[in-house]
Parts: sequence; structure tokens; C-alpha cells
Amino acid sequence: MSLIATEKVPDALGHFGEYGGRYVPETLMHPLQELEQEYLRAQRDPEFQREFEYYLREFCGRPTPLYFAERLTRELGGAKIYLKREDLLHTGAHKINNSIGQILLARRMGKTRIIAETGAGQHGVATATVAAMFGLKCVIYMGAVDCERQALNVYRMKMLGAEVVSVKAGQQTLKEAINEAMRDWVTNVRSTHYILGTAYGAHPYPLMVRNFQRVIGDEARRQIQEKEGRLPNLLVACVGGGSNAIGLFYPFLNDDSVRMVGVEAGGEGITAGRHAARFQGGSLGVLQGTRSYLLQDEFGQVQLTHSVSAGLDYAAVGPEHAWLRDHGRAEYTYATDDKALAAFTRLARLEGIIPALESSHAIAEVIQRAPKMDPSDLIIVNLSGRGDKDVAQVATKLSLTMPV
Ligand SMILES: *Cc1c(COP(=O)(O)O)cnc(C)c1O
Repeated sequence: MSLIATEKVPDALGHFGEYGGRYVPETLMHPLQELEQEYLRAQRDPEFQREFEYYLREFCGRPTPLYFAERLTRELGGAKIYLKREDLLHTGAHKINNSIGQILLARRMGKTRIIAETGAGQHGVATATVAAMFGLKCVIYMGAVDCERQALNVYRMKMLGAEVVSVKAGQQTLKEAINEAMRDWVTNVRSTHYILGTAYGAHPYPLMVRNFQRVIGDEARRQIQEKEGRLPNLLVACVGGGSNAIGLFYPFLNDDSVRMVGVEAGGEGITAGRHAARFQGGSLGVLQGTRSYLLQDEFGQVQLTHSVSAGLDYAAVGPEHAWLRDHGRAEYTYATDDKALAAFTRLARLEGIIPALESSHAIAEVIQRAPKMDPSDLIIVNLSGRGDKDVAQVATKLSLTMPV
């Protein structure tokens, strides 16, 4: 495995090697430049950093514990497994770290209206929450299919005072929701900030979201040193757009003893249209503002995707992950729906923790790997969210496939 020059990416134009950049209509170039400048100023401003840390601590509940999963470790009989408990954050997932950071920026820029896209609804809930907290108007775009499978989160957003727009175009999931959000942004850019929910999209979003999420890895690094007096051997996280994974990985990139693996959604297996594992069936392409690995057909048309978890069900992956993979710094694999469901149940019953279906993909990989590792090895797996939003869906699935 090779060490890489992490401080050189992204470059001033947002490129991670051949990935990333800014592929948007002309009307969005200026707002993105404005956002970039404001973000770079804020990043250097101790007052902004203090404010960010204040809300993460007092409102979101950071730091989150790094919890030793004793029974899971014993049952798997290999490496010692620690869970980074992002599921314990306010609103139930890591998304709120980024939403807090971006709404603070929006206020600095004098914006009065917030928009966002959402897949599983976790980013929509996090954004509706911070908009309510600061008294800003909020509109959330969500695919009609996702509205149905994540009805609980739709109600939560509405109760927080947000308007939820159910998007009926195309596959009616995350990609279409992002299209609508971008359309809104082009029209209302003077008053509106678009809080994008993952390490994806046009520059500066992948950089900015990664930096708002790196608190996960910064804390985990400190916590494992305190508990074990050394660094972990392996980091594991699920990868949708890639924000929880890059948040965990980033502070460890220069530690060459630490391996990292990102887990994509294998859906029903790697057949076109039945999964969302971009590194399995994908190729280089441009989608929604950035250049990265993308599930597309021979004509460059975006392919259908499928995953049991709405939060991983997207045709492209964040550009920094494509770059890390090219350099062999992180590896990427997938877990199928069935493996994720089995991991969901196993963690619930062994540890008393119901994970999000997204996070269950990471747990599934740990279940594969831990037994093959040495008991002196340490794994940190990012528990990106809790599974309350998924219980109705899982109950239906389980009664179809196995007696409970
Ligand atoms: C949104 C979400 C994900 C996937 O998004 P990333 O940007 O890849 O982290 C993973 N887990 C949970 C709980 C989510 O809500």
C-alpha cells in the first residue's frame, strides 16, 4: 500500500487527480465561486470554528463514543471491533455534522432560504432540523419512491416545518431529487443556499463536506489512542456518496499501518440495474457537477440502481474515493441486500444496537473480515446511523425471507 500526497488534493479547481472539478451550467459558476470563497474564509476563521464546535457539542451531542463491541468480537473470534457511534447523534446519523457546518456558512452569506436533496431522508431531517433551529425557510426534495420507503422521515421533516417536495421523475429516487434541487438553486440562488448532503457534486462541496465530516475520524483517532494506546489496523465504512467514509478515513490517510475499506451497496448482486456498487460495474463519467465513477450504459446514460438502503442507492460515488482507490490507499468492496439484512439483525441481537441499513453494509464486511484477523488486531467500523427509520421495511423483508 502506498502513501499519497493528501495535502495536494483537491487542487484549486477541485480536482482529485482526474476526478472532481466543477461541471455545472454557467448560472451556477458564480454562486459556487462565492460559496468556495466564503468557505475558505470561514475555515481560517477561529470564530467560525468555535461556533461549529459549539453546535456539534451542545446541539448534536459530540463527541460520539467509540464503543467496544464485546459480544460481536467474541462471536466472530478475531479482531477486536470498535463501533464509532454516529447513530447516537441528534437526528440519528452523521449527516447533521455537515448540515450544521453548511447552515453556519449560509448565515454568514446572508441566505434566508435552505434547500436540500435527500435519499433515506436522514439528510433531509438533519437539514430541516438546523433550518428550524436558525429560523430559515426550508424545502427538501425527495424521490417519490424514497418518500414511500422512508415515510417516518417525511413526517419528521414536515413536523420540523420544512416543505417536502416528492419528485416523480425518472426512477423517483436520489438522482432525480438532486436534479430538482439544482433546478431550484439556479432559479433562487440569490436568497438560497443548497445544503448538499454528501461528499459529492461540484467543487467546493466534496472538499467542504469532507472537512465538516472529518470530526468523525479526528475523534476516533484520539479515542483509540486513549483506549488501546495505538492506531487501528482497519477502518470500515459504508459508501453512498462517501461522506461518512471519508470523514472517518481522512485523518488516517497518512498512517500507513491503517488499512481502510469502503463498502458499497451490492443490491441483488452485480448485474446491471440491480446494485449501486460503482466500483464494480462503473466507469469514468460526469454526473451532477463532478467527474467520478458512475454506473452508465455504453451510451453514457445513467443506469438504474438498486439497494435495500435508500442512502446508498445512487449511481455515482464521491471523487475523493475514486482517487483513493486509484492510488490503492483505500479499497472498495460491496455487501448485498441479504448480507446487510443479516448484519442488521446480528448487531441488534448481539449488541442491543439497531443500525441503519446503510451502516449494516459496513457491519456485513466486518463479519466477513474480523474472523480472518488476529485477536490483537483492531477494527473501527463507522456506525453512520441508527435503524429506527428502517424497522418497518426490515420487518416486511424478514417475514418474507425468514421466520422471525
Ligand atoms: C446518507 C447515509 C449514508 C450514505 O451517505 P454517505 O455520504 O456515503 O455517508 C450512510 N449511512 C447513513 C446512516 C446515512 O443516512
